[in-house]
Amino acid sequence: AYNERESLYIVLNYAKDFFAQNLSKEEGRAIGLSYFKERGFNQDVIEKFDLGYALDGWSHLHEAAKSAGHSDEILLKAGLILQKEGDPKRMYDRFRGRVIFTIHNLGGKPIAFGARILTQDKKQPKYINSPETEVYHKSDVLYGIFQAKKSIREKDNCYLVEGYTDVISMHLSGIENVVASSGTSLTENQIKLIKRFSDNITVLYDGDAAGIKASLRGIDMILEGGLNVKAVVFPNGEDPDSYARKVGSQEFQDYLEKNAQDFISFKIGLHANEAANDPIKQANLIKDVVQSLSKIPDPIIRTVYIKKSAALLELDEEIIQTELNKIYLKGK
Ligand code: ATP
Ligand code: MN
Ligand code: MN
Ligand code: MN
Repeated sequence: AYNERESLYIVLNYAKDFFAQNLSKEEGRAIGLSYFKERGFNQDVIEKFDLGYALDGWSHLHEAAKSAGHSDEILLKAGLILQKEGDPKRMYDRFRGRVIFTIHNLGGKPIAFGARILTQDKKQPKYINSPETEVYHKSDVLYGIFQAKKSIREKDNCYLVEGYTDVISMHLSGIENVVASSGTSLTENQIKLIKRFSDNITVLYDGDAAGIKASLRGIDMILEGGLNVKAVVFPNGEDPDSYARKVGSQEFQDYLEKNAQDFISFKIGLHANEAANDPIKQANLIKDVVQSLSKIPDPIIRTVYIKKSAALLELDEEIIQTELNKIYLKGK
């Protein structure tokens, strides 16, 4: 007899195969596969990432899984089907008429799914995801970690992006050391997960206001975790996927190399224009940089960055140190 976790892994693996096989059925080929092809995804990444398609209907997965011997109870617990209250309690598939992104754990087992709508229906969310389950704790998971871990160790760096498609596009551009936070703010456990393979993270969030805001938050979290962080800013409105497709893989790789900035330069760059002739904004920028410096737990690394900040901001190191001491006296 299997315990519940094992049954969940088995049913999730079954669903992964079902979604993958749908891509070669008529509906899946016409809708799902052509969508992936339009985005430039080839058979390689379709298999590597266990991409799939959820047929449009209320119970395709449910019926198939039932015939294969999976109980309603376990399908519900896996988040694959939902139950409507009332009498009788109607059950229906969670994912319908969407392309499927399988989310794997570190060992490569399917633990959840993300599903993207194909039309621009404003009434429905672009992505829906599996709920929290016994084997899927969203805040502990990074999309793509299984496919990336070897490369993260080899390159001693991990690129952090927002979305599923950014991860896949970067693999197509020859960059495999990449994971996605999947649109939510980065957690301590996710940083610890990366730290098992490297101490270096480069944040590649979307080139829009939300992406910049998320980068700033992510940078401070990473510094607090004691890792080194860089950030790359993309042209307005571009994300790693759209930009890689626009410029091609060689130019994309060059762009990352040339534009990876440490967090101080990143913050200075964001404020540079407005701070130039405005002493108050200049002061805010300095306080902002000092705030990030205060998150660095290692005193030696902190000192290195204090020197660097002083040089870039054209300030005495002592002034930065004094500001830092104020923060330390206030907190902790
Ligand atoms: P695409 O290129 O397919 O439009 P994207 O990855 O660029 O997708 P974003 O809007 O930038 O999409 O969102 C980044 C990530 O945030 C997504 O890949 C997904 O993981 C998550 N996300 C976005 N919208 C939602 C949503 N409505 N519900 C849950 N997760 C979402
Ligand atoms: Mn975005
Ligand atoms: Mn995006
Ligand atoms: Mn995108």
